[in-house]
Amino acid sequence: MYDVIIIGSGVAGSIAAYKLAEAGKKVLILEKETLPRYKTCGGGVISKVSELLPYKIDPVVECKLYKSDIYDHANDLHFIIERDIPIINMTMRSSLDHFMLTKAREVGTEIKEENEVIDINEKNGFVEVITRNQSYETKFVIAADGATGITTRKLGIQIKVKKIPAIEHEVVIEKDQFEKLNKTARFDFGLVPNGYAWVFPKKVHLSIGLLTMSKPGINLHQYFKKYLEILGITKLLSEEKHGYIIPFHSGQKNFSYGRILLAGDAAGLADPVTAEGISYAITSGIYAANSFINGKENAETVCKLYEFEIKKILTELKYARYLAFLIYKSPLLRTFVFKMYGEKLSNLMTDVITGKVKYSELLKNPLNYLKLFKLTHFKKNPR
Ligand SMILES: Cc1cc2nc3c(=O)[nH]c(=O)nc-3n(C[C@H](O)[C@H](O)[C@H](O)COP(=O)(O)OP(=O)(O)OC[C@H]3O[C@@H](n4cnc5c(N)ncnc54)[C@H](O)[C@@H]3O)c2cc1C
Repeated sequence: MYDVIIIGSGVAGSIAAYKLAEAGKKVLILEKETLPRYKTCGGGVISKVSELLPYKIDPVVECKLYKSDIYDHANDLHFIIERDIPIINMTMRSSLDHFMLTKAREVGTEIKEENEVIDINEKNGFVEVITRNQSYETKFVIAADGATGITTRKLGIQIKVKKIPAIEHEVVIEKDQFEKLNKTARFDFGLVPNGYAWVFPKKVHLSIGLLTMSKPGINLHQYFKKYLEILGITKLLSEEKHGYIIPFHSGQKNFSYGRILLAGDAAGLADPVTAEGISYAITSGIYAANSFINGKENAETVCKLYEFEIKKILTELKYARYLAFLIYKSPLLRTFVFKMYGEKLSNLMTDVITGKVKYSELLKNPLNYLKLFKLTHFKKNPR
């Protein structure tokens, strides 16, 4: 009997396993893919993640970006943000996830790859987890099986999550064109309806992505071609195309079901402004592990502790949704926001990303709204 079985070896699963195994628990990760596996993701790890992890991820960081360029094509705006600490660390998720998994293994986690979980049954005092290969018994399960995992389906939960489409192309381009794009994290608004496009440079290639907050029906691949033109990319030396979904919280209240805790994308915890999901996946993985450790294996206590902790994330996501409304709700509203406050907003978002400030601190206090929307245009000129 395992103490905890974790379904999925993404960042949420790996960090939960690390914390549990480090505390002496008997932990098994079940992963359906062959490892290391590709994950459709920009691989941008925002700098506040370094405060969450018990180890450094430097060995898998392909480049550290101190600069970000934000374009609004609809209004011909360009904001440049620079910091003296890295704003985003660029990784490939295959390497990052494998690195984190290796850390979990080093402290005693057992890992079984090519082991797809196909069913979960809660029994009296334990859970039976069935894979295509065999079945296992465990006291608790952490479901970290991502946005399309099976846990919620098997539990019969209609999880309240808004799933939006996103694509990521891994491209190799000519050296001179690459060198124009590899020093900054670039975000482009006003190209994809209700969304944005980005360029995340890696050591020798670019991860170029697009997403839309609109309902399915928008052909992101069509916008990708247009985006290449905007970027001045004339030739792709190689290209790998990937598409997936990003899940945003949309009113879900419960994240624990008996002896099963949902973490990361399985719980729908991506940021509705930036679509960043790694930091919330890691945070929820840590919360899940701590809840098990501190709950002393009592199912009710473990769930209570987890729900209490997850509320901290939900509070942040609630305030993030306010900002997302201003940016994505309508082109008219975004024009107003970007024209009047684009520079300030870009700086504040960078402060959120670097962990200097939280959404809740930024927006909870009405005085901070005034700070954000300071009517600089109506200020008297200094004499
Ligand atoms: C195009 C795109 C770009 C993105 N860019 C960024 C970015 O730059 N920065 C950022 O912070 N976030 C980004 N995100 C979001 C981020 O990728 C996710 O929020 C994050 O990966 C969630 O991690 P996770 O561990 O919860 O799930 P995942 O990383 O999805 O891991 C889930 C794991 O579970 C496994 N699994 C699934 N089902 C089963 C099963 N039945 N049995 C066993 N194993 C199973 C999967 O194979 C997988 O390994 C992006 C998302 C997309 C789609």
